[in-house]
Amino acid sequence: MADQLDPDCVFCKIVTGAIPATVVRETPATLAFRDINPQAPTHVLVIPKTHYPNAATLAAAEPELAAGLLTEAAAVAADEKIADHGYRMIFNTGAGAGQTVFHAHVHVLGGGDFHEGLV
Ligand code: AMP
Ligand code: ZN
Repeated sequence: MADQLDPDCVFCKIVTGAIPATVVRETPATLAFRDINPQAPTHVLVIPKTHYPNAATLAAAEPELAAGLLTEAAAVAADEKIADHGYRMIFNTGAGAGQTVFHAHVHVLGGGDFHEGLV
């Protein structure tokens, strides 16, 4: 079990309401809100309400909660009407991969055309 919250973590502060966010979906264990710096017409982050530094540590400790992020990401895509066209789920894991907030999250990106290829 992770520490419930990290007082220095921006996403934990969103969970407590200390920092505002545009929440689009919520379950008892997860929160989905719009990215403050969107990289696509739809750019939503889905996080667990408990603090894990990345998706790998979340999956190792609470696989059902990790799966819940995928379920909620798919629900966001349906709500945003990007599911039929196609969308991306991205987990940046580690600073070298571009992770800047060390609280597990999946990016849900869609509403535009993506370049072919890996990224
Ligand atoms: P990553 O680079 O995968 O760690 O992604 C972190 C994401 O969090 C970035 O896309 C940021 O734009 C986003 N972000 C950081 N602070 C906030 C915030 N207060 N509200 C919403 N999104 C945020
Ligand atoms: Zn956190």
